[in-house]
Amino acid sequence: MALMLDLVIVGAGPIGIEAGIRARRAGITYLILEQGSVVNAIVGYPTYMTFFTTSERLEVGGHPLVTATDKPTRKEALDYYRKVVQNEGLAVRQHHRVSRLQRVPEGFEIMGHTDRGEAFALRSRFAAVATGYFDTPKLLGVPGEDRPTVSGYYAEPTLLEGAGVGIDPATLTACHSEETFETNVPGLYVLGSAGYGTRTSDVFIENGLVHVERALEDIRRKMSPVNA
Ligand SMILES: Cc1cc2nc3c(=O)[nH]c(=O)nc-3n(C[C@H](O)[C@H](O)[C@H](O)COP(=O)(O)OP(=O)(O)OC[C@H]3O[C@@H](n4cnc5c(N)ncnc54)[C@H](O)[C@@H]3O)c2cc1C
Repeated sequence: MALMLDLVIVGAGPIGIEAGIRARRAGITYLILEQGSVVNAIVGYPTYMTFFTTSERLEVGGHPLVTATDKPTRKEALDYYRKVVQNEGLAVRQHHRVSRLQRVPEGFEIMGHTDRGEAFALRSRFAAVATGYFDTPKLLGVPGEDRPTVSGYYAEPTLLEGAGVGIDPATLTACHSEETFETNVPGLYVLGSAGYGTRTSDVFIENGLVHVERALEDIRRKMSPVNA
């Protein structure tokens, strides 16, 4: 458990990538942990889909998203986000699934395993959950749904709940500030759709990016020597 970072970001979707870029540029030591590959959720979108949002509203880190028409296709978006990660030299550990987040006196202990089954554990002062909602389906409990050919939708808030975040039983929304996106667990943030339970249709990439801006601003403020 040697590594102690300022910030661990869980999830390398568009929102986690934006958080990594902002952390890096602010001189905050960070690491992004991703259970699959970068923008794993978009990999699973329909092969020939086109986003409903225009390209410039999906951009991260100010990198232009150049597309053949005004809206990107799935492939254009995949190429774009992956190239941004590469060009920014972001610290991402792929195939690292986080299964537990725990508040400890100096910040957070983050635990999980790689897809080879190796366990890992890290410590950070702040944590941000940007896990989206597509990769943790809420299963129906019917025979056959565990087969690889079957997929499901919607997330249960296990990771957040385990860390002590209050979850609204009606909407499964995480208890958090709409100003800073910090949860009721000090130092733990929810970014993008990850904290919105059944209200996922309220949050897209375009407005999720605002959460990152506010949260990183809050982390910077708390890290400044005056507030440390
Ligand atoms: C078909 C379709 C079309 C869409 N079109 C648009 C659009 O036009 N405009 C728009 O703004 N939005 C659109 N959306 C919604 C948008 O894609 C999501 O809101 C967006 O992907 C959210 O980004 P995110 O980074 O929060 O989450 P995600 O992209 O879901 O990324 C979360 C990441 O976290 C990882 N992860 C999850 N759990 C863990 C864990 N325990 N440990 C480590 N990693 C983990 C996942 O593998 C994933 O890579 C669309 C969605 C769909 C399905």
